[in-house]
Amino acid sequence: MTNTSKIRVRFAPSPTGYLHIGGLRTALYNYLFAKKHGGTFILRIEDTDQSRFVPGAIESLIQSLDETGLTPDEGVFLKKNHGSGIRDQETKESKSYPGIIESGDFGPYIQSERLDIYKQYADELIASGKAYHCFCSAERLTEVREAQAKNKQAPKYDKYCLSLAADERKQKVTSGVPCVIRLNVLEEHGDVVFADLVRGEVRIRTQDIDDQVLVKSDGFPTYHLANVVDDHLMRISHVIRAEEWLPSTPKHILLYEAFGWEMPQFAHIPLLLNPDKSKLSKRQGDVSVEEYLKKGYLKEALINFIALLGWNPGQGSVQEIFSLDELVQAFDLGHVHKAGAVFDLQKLDWMNAEYIKRLPVDELYEKISTGGFLEKTLIAAAPEAMRSEEYLKRVLSIERERLAKLSDIGENNPFFFAAELSYDTGLLHWKGNAPDMTREALTKSEKILSDLNDLEWSKKEILEKILLEAAGERKGDLLWPLRVALTGAERSPSPFEIAWVLGKEESLKRLENSIKRLS
Ligand code: GLU
Repeated sequence: MTNTSKIRVRFAPSPTGYLHIGGLRTALYNYLFAKKHGGTFILRIEDTDQSRFVPGAIESLIQSLDETGLTPDEGVFLKKNHGSGIRDQETKESKSYPGIIESGDFGPYIQSERLDIYKQYADELIASGKAYHCFCSAERLTEVREAQAKNKQAPKYDKYCLSLAADERKQKVTSGVPCVIRLNVLEEHGDVVFADLVRGEVRIRTQDIDDQVLVKSDGFPTYHLANVVDDHLMRISHVIRAEEWLPSTPKHILLYEAFGWEMPQFAHIPLLLNPDKSKLSKRQGDVSVEEYLKKGYLKEALINFIALLGWNPGQGSVQEIFSLDELVQAFDLGHVHKAGAVFDLQKLDWMNAEYIKRLPVDELYEKISTGGFLEKTLIAAAPEAMRSEEYLKRVLSIERERLAKLSDIGENNPFFFAAELSYDTGLLHWKGNAPDMTREALTKSEKILSDLNDLEWSKKEILEKILLEAAGERKGDLLWPLRVALTGAERSPSPFEIAWVLGKEESLKRLENSIKRLS
């Protein structure tokens, strides 16, 4: 049973760029687990690897999480988005990153602001003899590694500096000889064993574990030290992270033991894979959450899709569409798969289309206009009248059924936004009908449509009824030329729908043009 009173989980990205789709899934599973158990979801920034730091990356990570609705309860926030749940009196400005605020009782939540804390704990391990200074040069370490490779041994530090006399070590440290701090992993420790909530029992031989570096020569802690110290001090109850971190976990467990701390529970979630089963990478498509949102994937669809990459609700459930609240209710770490999950873009497109279909036209319009899609798509070049809110809403009510993403607006039916149509005049003839018959049909349509009043034009059902009646038995004779005249396209929605969207003036103009082509 999960003890729900103390559930605290964290998403702990390193600011090396944008929020990766895999990162979003890790954040989501943490979020769902926290919400399901009434726990706390924390956002912590792991920026101790200065060489991988990318300016602006923290801000972009937080922004993407906010945009997908996974706002943390505690940790770091963007000042400009302040108000998404945290109260003024609880926040502090970050010392090193303007524009970022921190909220919660266990801060700072940015590791580069916690260097003193890591130093204190590294010193504690040195004092208790659980860790030691190592002064070996890069050259020596390479020699050791090469010799081990020759002897077919696993690459491991040979504990050379552990054999230095205490005085010598002290003297080197005080005189400032460059050094790192390593954990002393005892060979007699026996296997490291832990129960992973996804993978079951995991067992690693201690002799395969290196005397890991805890503090680097630049004085910065390594990921391992900072991660364990923070998870302990921030009272993290469950570490839910990607499977790529599994090899680090035995090292972390040895650290918890060295400190004498209680361990959190671990859950390693499966890798995300390209369709060819390689690890999901940029080379085979977009991996940045921001890119997906920019292309017009709805956050609800993205979250729903990502949730199902590596998890299912179990009990033979076939439900595929889940709101965030439904995911919270259904989520269970016990149903996270062990095998890697393939990122299937077609499935995402399908899911996004399902979400778009369910949107009321007003909301869809709102998303298209605030998402910048009016500027990015062919709408931007359309005549004034075809960019009005009213016109676009009519287009959307027709297109909604067929859009895979918001940026596809107009793509399937470019004639909605064209000032002039260009098409082969021959296309106007229905099944080998003579030009005279086509002209007659087009003139008839023109007459019918020009006689209709505004009220009749306001309902596509009325247009449909009148035109169908006029077409009689041989529908194609009348309706095909009309449809082509209005669209210039071989395939399109029905002529009633198109005429209704275009309106009286534009429809008659297009009909006239088509008649001119035939004379
Ligand atoms: N900083 C690590 C990352 O970038 C965190 C790994 C963990 O959750 O322990 O993913």
